[in-house]
Amino acid sequence: MRVATYIGLGSNLDNPPQQLRRAIQELALFPESRLKACSSLYRSPPMGPAEQPDYINAVVELETGLAAESLLDALQDIERQHRRVRAGHWGPRTLDLDILLYGVGRIGTPRLQIPHPGIGQRSFVLYPLAEIAPGLSIPGLASLESLLQQCASDGLERLDDSVSATV
Ligand code: ATP
Ligand code: CA
Ligand code: CA
Repeated sequence: MRVATYIGLGSNLDNPPQQLRRAIQELALFPESRLKACSSLYRSPPMGPAEQPDYINAVVELETGLAAESLLDALQDIERQHRRVRAGHWGPRTLDLDILLYGVGRIGTPRLQIPHPGIGQRSFVLYPLAEIAPGLSIPGLASLESLLQQCASDGLERLDDSVSATV
């Protein structure tokens, strides 16, 4: 059975738009998976430590037959390939890949929380998500539309630069 998943991408080191484009091409090659939609790229001020570059963010829809834990394994492989180094909580990184939603599933293990716990408060997640799936409901939370109404855009800027052309 295939599930519609939404993956949040972020980068603020080493040519972030390129990091995201490459990551999306790599996601599209996952087994039993198909890339269905890509948002535009967005620029957002950093969360947490302020002394770091702005982030570039995007959200993609990936239809997959992978179990949620296997999907996380595959995403963490890509983060490693992008030479992500852990530099403190919410510190700068070449690539961050979060599973935002896994169908209508809810998961709460130490390794994996779905829906992603930050989803409801983060403009850099909600706005790109709304671009590709405006009618979504977040399991256990609310409609995407109502979350957006309560979420300030917080300096988020949509860039013209789309990734769709490259996938
Ligand atoms: P945040 O999760 O608040 O966005 P972060 O992305 O900087 O912070 P990481 O250091 O990338 O956090 O990840 C820490 C751990 O979060 C991962 O090792 C992973 O096991 C766990 N995790 C839990 N739920 C998820 C999820 N939905 N997607 C990705 N990782 C998750
Ligand atoms: Ca994250
Ligand atoms: Ca993460």
